Amino acid sequence: MYICYLCNGLDKMQDTCPNCNAHMLDGGKLVDYYGDYAPYIETDNAQMIDGLPNSSKEHQCVHVGVCSVCNHVEELIISEQELQ
Ligand SMILES: [Zn+2]
Ligand SMILES: [Zn+2]
Repeated sequence: MYICYLCNGLDKMQDTCPNCNAHMLDGGKLVDYYGDYAPYIETDNAQMIDGLPNSSKEHQCVHVGVCSVCNHVEELIISEQELQ
């Protein structure tokens, strides 16, 4: 089975901000992030929201990275790792 290390708290976001090179903080899954603003969206449509129709098949998890300094927000595709 594949799991997203970020979702499971096993890893921290490694990315840096393209604007100021500061450390990006994990703002959560993209779907959850937009969920705050669009609570009516069904989870069935979640794969469409993240713009990657096959993201679950491809074992990728789309997160929102938020810059700790300038608050730049960026979508980050996290590759899920296979658990043995
Ligand atoms: Zn995740
Ligand atoms: Zn920044």
